[in-house]
Amino acid sequence: ERLYRVSASTVGHGSGLYVLIFKDQSEARRIDRMRADFIANASHELRTPLASISGFIETLRGPARNDAAARDKFLQIMQNQTGRMARLIDDLLSLSRLEMKPYLRPGSRVDLTGTLKAVIDTLTPLAKDNGVVIEREFPDEPTEIPGDRDELFQVFENLVENACKYGQSGGRVVVSVTPGHDGPEPTVDVTVRDFGPGIAEEHIPRVTERFYRIDAESSRAQKGTGLGLAIVKHILTRHHGRLSIASEPGKGAAFTVHLPAN
Ligand code: ADP
Repeated sequence: ERLYRVSASTVGHGSGLYVLIFKDQSEARRIDRMRADFIANASHELRTPLASISGFIETLRGPARNDAAARDKFLQIMQNQTGRMARLIDDLLSLSRLEMKPYLRPGSRVDLTGTLKAVIDTLTPLAKDNGVVIEREFPDEPTEIPGDRDELFQVFENLVENACKYGQSGGRVVVSVTPGHDGPEPTVDVTVRDFGPGIAEEHIPRVTERFYRIDAESSRAQKGTGLGLAIVKHILTRHHGRLSIASEPGKGAAFTVHLPAN
């Protein structure tokens, strides 16, 4: 159902000629609804750990007042919950910062392969903890492309971290760089591939939506917020790039970032 606002204005005095201006309101309504959904989701995600913390405070002041073992356990849980809230707030702030300045600083350039190396170094301890080896399939030399270093760091950090967490069972993650093209325009394509359970076809178009998680339980266990890929998509749009996702369920997933080479 599409709704139009119709307004009429006269062209030429007394000519009787009217121009009708149709404004598509369905798009505005869709955006309003998305914003309302987003606020509802974000509030719910923040409320859940808060309710748990509040419950444990109650227990600690009441029945568990003199139980040292229970106290330690409950304090640990409360600390985990505050960590979860902090991660969520960090991601929400990232999204809002990206929305406030929708364009990149003109002329900024980044060493892509250097950034990828830094991401891999940062995530090697996490990979090790998960029994994953990260393999590099790109040259040692710097590769300069247009882009913001901090933002692209965040993109690759999210993708490699997801591959190490959700693709953990595959035991390895491969990060590769290849030349590509978007129509006639040359691109640099970075693929992060894992060999874990992969993603069923019906979920692929939806994993970049805010708060979309295939398995909320496993996302939570992996300290996920459900916002990582939404942030990735946002940053890539600003870079005139895009994300493509391929997966053969049971064999792994491949996330490819296509970025303009010049
Ligand atoms: P989260 O914070 O939950 O990790 P993301 O936006 O980063 O949120 O990812 C959304 C969901 O996509 C995840 O909860 C997970 O279900 C799925 N996902 C992401 N990466 C992978 C992957 N490499 N393999 C399988 N599933 C994945």
